[in-house]
Amino acid sequence: MRTITIIGAGQAGLQLGIGLLKNGYTVNIVSNRTAEDIAKGRVPSSQSMYGMAIDIERDFGLSFWDDECPAANGLYVRVGFEADAFMVDWKVNWKDVNLTPVQAVDQRIKMPRWMAEFEALGGHLIYQEAGIEDLEFYADSSDLVIVASGKGDINKLFPRDDERSEIDRPQRKIALTYVHGMLPETDHSSINISIRPGIGEYINFPGLTHSGPCDIINLEGVPGGPMDCWDDVKTPQEHLQRAVDLIHEFFPWEAYRCKNLTLTDDLGILAGSVTPTVRKAIGVLPSGRTVLGMADVLALNDPMTGQGSNNASKCAHVYLAAIIKHQDRAFDDEWKHDTSEQFWSYAGSAAKLVNSFILPPTDNLLRVVTAGNDNQALVETLAKGFDDPRTLAPWFYDADKTEKLLKSLALAKAS
Ligand SMILES: Cc1cc2nc3c(=O)[nH]c(=O)nc-3n(C[C@H](O)[C@H](O)[C@H](O)COP(=O)(O)OP(=O)(O)OC[C@H]3O[C@@H](n4cnc5c(N)ncnc54)[C@H](O)[C@@H]3O)c2cc1C
Repeated sequence: MRTITIIGAGQAGLQLGIGLLKNGYTVNIVSNRTAEDIAKGRVPSSQSMYGMAIDIERDFGLSFWDDECPAANGLYVRVGFEADAFMVDWKVNWKDVNLTPVQAVDQRIKMPRWMAEFEALGGHLIYQEAGIEDLEFYADSSDLVIVASGKGDINKLFPRDDERSEIDRPQRKIALTYVHGMLPETDHSSINISIRPGIGEYINFPGLTHSGPCDIINLEGVPGGPMDCWDDVKTPQEHLQRAVDLIHEFFPWEAYRCKNLTLTDDLGILAGSVTPTVRKAIGVLPSGRTVLGMADVLALNDPMTGQGSNNASKCAHVYLAAIIKHQDRAFDDEWKHDTSEQFWSYAGSAAKLVNSFILPPTDNLLRVVTAGNDNQALVETLAKGFDDPRTLAPWFYDADKTEKLLKSLALAKAS
């Protein structure tokens, strides 16, 4: 049976590795962290996953938290400066668009559980910080090497794709805070997004962490602006206080929910930034052998709109199908290229969606999201685009096509 080696035990690598084991492949996963390191480490993400990506996990037999993880049942978007004068204010329930609710299971719970599952199914977990020489070794001894190392340094093997990379510097200073004690939303829980134009965003949703159900807060600040204020924060308590202060100052309509917040744990916080980057899919080793990149290695996004873990799940799905379909033929560069392009046909749309929210908004984007205020059919169409960003292209980005869509929705409403 064929041997596949995957570098990185994250959302993409473990999901693909387990999928391959279940289809009879011999699989090595190389991880620079043990399950204990991950479980006891800092939160790396807020990892909200929409219906399609979670359903893929379910198909892989990996959705272990359906009963425990509180659901985000909808999407709620507000844009503006004060509660009674929002420019944009709309909400949708996922069930109205036939999507299963969003889940956010702390990766400190998820990855260790998946590592145990991987080993129970006969996978080989190798603990090592894989470098170029190690990749040479695995490329020699495996039929295929896939690099799913996320933001790890080894991804420098994959050159930046200048044509596809729309952005070359961080567009937000990001702060993540896992909390207990947040009051629930008034009707149903949601991916709750408030945008303060020119300043930043507040994104909140329920999740599951070590200490049980929690709320996850993402604050995204425009660099150099008043929400870009994390560098002097020294302690977890200061981090929490800074988050609460920012919510009071810039998102006061959410402040009533945040009166009694406590951190889930001292490592349930993170501050930093991401340079959104698209990379070429094939990494060439000094020997001339090649390896294939995956998920964040190829398409790294800002967390706004929550696409990265979703991308990773969908990438695992695409790669698994392509590997099985290829049967016993060699995984040559043509196959690697074609397989990565299948992923890009999805991930390119996700990157476009994220970038349209973190770059200064186009007139068309403002028009579309504002039109949602009194057009529920449009809101539902938009919400589906967060789950599957391919459905937004091209109408979301093109004024003429937007016009056509709005007319067709109006006609559908009238008939
Ligand atoms: C603040 C923040 C919030 C986010 N929120 C969301 C969200 O709400 N929704 C969403 O969909 N996405 C979100 N994301 C993005 C999401 O977390 C990532 O896109 C996703 O985890 C990528 O999966 P991956 O498998 O490609 O990489 P990762 O999950 O990063 O896994 C890579 C693994 O490889 C290991 N590794 C690295 N280098 C090596 C090496 N040389 N040798 C061996 N192992 C190595 C790493 O330790 C890690 O375990 C967020 C990201 C951030 C930073």
